[in-house]
Amino acid sequence: MTSLPAPPPGTTALLTIDLDAIAANYRLLRERLGAVPCAAVIKADAYGLGLRPVMRRLLAEGCDTFFTATPGEAVTARSLSASATVAVLNGLGPGEAPMFLEHGLVPVLNDLGQIESWRDAAGRAGRALDAMVHIDTGMNRLGLDARETARLIAEPDRLAGLGLRLWISHFACADEALHPLNATQIERFRLVRRHLPPAPASLANSSGIFLGGSAHCDLGRPGAALYGLRPTAGRRNPMARVVSLSARVLKVRRVEPGTTVGYGASHTMPEGGRVATIALGYADGYLRHLGNRGAVQVGEQIVPVVGRISMDLTTIDVTGLAPGTPAEGDWVTVIGDRQTPDQVAEAAHTIGYEILTSLGARHHRRYLGDAA
Ligand SMILES: *Cc1c(COP(=O)(O)O)cnc(C)c1O
Repeated sequence: MTSLPAPPPGTTALLTIDLDAIAANYRLLRERLGAVPCAAVIKADAYGLGLRPVMRRLLAEGCDTFFTATPGEAVTARSLSASATVAVLNGLGPGEAPMFLEHGLVPVLNDLGQIESWRDAAGRAGRALDAMVHIDTGMNRLGLDARETARLIAEPDRLAGLGLRLWISHFACADEALHPLNATQIERFRLVRRHLPPAPASLANSSGIFLGGSAHCDLGRPGAALYGLRPTAGRRNPMARVVSLSARVLKVRRVEPGTTVGYGASHTMPEGGRVATIALGYADGYLRHLGNRGAVQVGEQIVPVVGRISMDLTTIDVTGLAPGTPAEGDWVTVIGDRQTPDQVAEAAHTIGYEILTSLGARHHRRYLGDAA
């Protein structure tokens, strides 16, 4: 990463988001997709990294289709581009049609009732309204189930008055390259589309793109990999790292043999040593599950988190480091090359997605490569 000016005085936790890396990841995903175009999923504030700067940068890379979860996120996305396709994965909720119309949002219709509501809205508007339709193929979360899909096949007029832009479906297990449900979902989606009115289709999230061509259909729909998360479990991560997080050492103390550290006295230092306290806690998204499990990087060394994570503070065992290291005021790396979001997630028994979306608002944030 290029170096940036020092953060303002008073900064004790520093989050750096590398938009150049997001752009590189977008290009890599496009390369994987070959001739198939690539949308971007920017729900949950672009996985916690900032919808506005992320979307601006992706627009600059030529991305023209964006998926959000909620209509509110989609309105923000629309404010950044009058021409991009902005689609709402959570579908069309009750009373939301006027908002979708006003902002030119495309609902991803999730059941026959939503299809009917959107058709009613098209009738009132006196024009065809763009729509995407989600067909469930094994996720059992959103999307038309098998019974509803059969009805839509039997009664395709239910789509009359809509400008059908895309069929979508969503993988349940794409991060496990060999999971049998992947092939099942690819095949189910292919079969139902043979009987449904023709329109482009989209199946692959980040991991799905790495399953290969049979998963690609007509549009890639990645989120996580854009933000540097590993697409496939157990394989090398080909994505560029986007996030780094560092925190200041507030205090270094020498402790006597048998001393305990932190709430609940959950860690004992049998031989004593040195404990450093850093300015970052679960309120900053450093999950409480990382107590006695996480690790941070001090200079070139990795040292363990000891004791529970507090709201604003974390304690690390620096006994093994050279005397005077770290010094109070030094920075330690909490997320970086050697503590990737996927690795932090593993220590916390969760997934990188939750690490990113938990990052919180208290860090000083800076963006490398902002297209603003
Ligand atoms: C979140 C989401 C995506 C993006 O998934 P990633 O695993 O982050 O790439 C794609 N499609 C749907 C329906 C989603 O909910």
